[in-house]
Amino acid sequence: MPGEPQDDCLFCKIVAGQIPATIVRETDTTVAFRDINPQAPTHVLVIPKAHYENAAALAAGAPELAADVLRETRAVAEDEKLESYRTIFNTGSGAGQTVWHAHAHVLGGRGLTWPPG
Ligand code: IMP
Repeated sequence: MPGEPQDDCLFCKIVAGQIPATIVRETDTTVAFRDINPQAPTHVLVIPKAHYENAAALAAGAPELAADVLRETRAVAEDEKLESYRTIFNTGSGAGQTVWHAHAHVLGGRGLTWPPG
């Protein structure tokens, strides 16, 4: 059922406090925590607390929650004092998605080239 916690989901376990994470922000609907394998000086993941398998499912199933996630990416960038930063949603294994709970990467603190790999 979209939105329901999944027993086998790593990020649902972080939301539930069953797996430790370095949480930098939390709202009623979202959590932001540092990526365990950072690719930039700032690498924070912003997730909805509710389980949607990726950004496409989130946008289709709960667009207001997708807006909450996007709002929080901006708040992370402000907290981290990032003038430039990149917000990424990898959607599908071909795009590099490895965790099947929607998440926005917020990357900054170094120069970022374009196009990405
Ligand atoms: P994806 O490849 O876009 O799905 O991104 C998943 C991200 O989750 C990767 O950047 C991983 O480094 C990160 N990640 C995986 N496990 C953990 C964890 O336990 N805590 C924090 N980040 C994690």
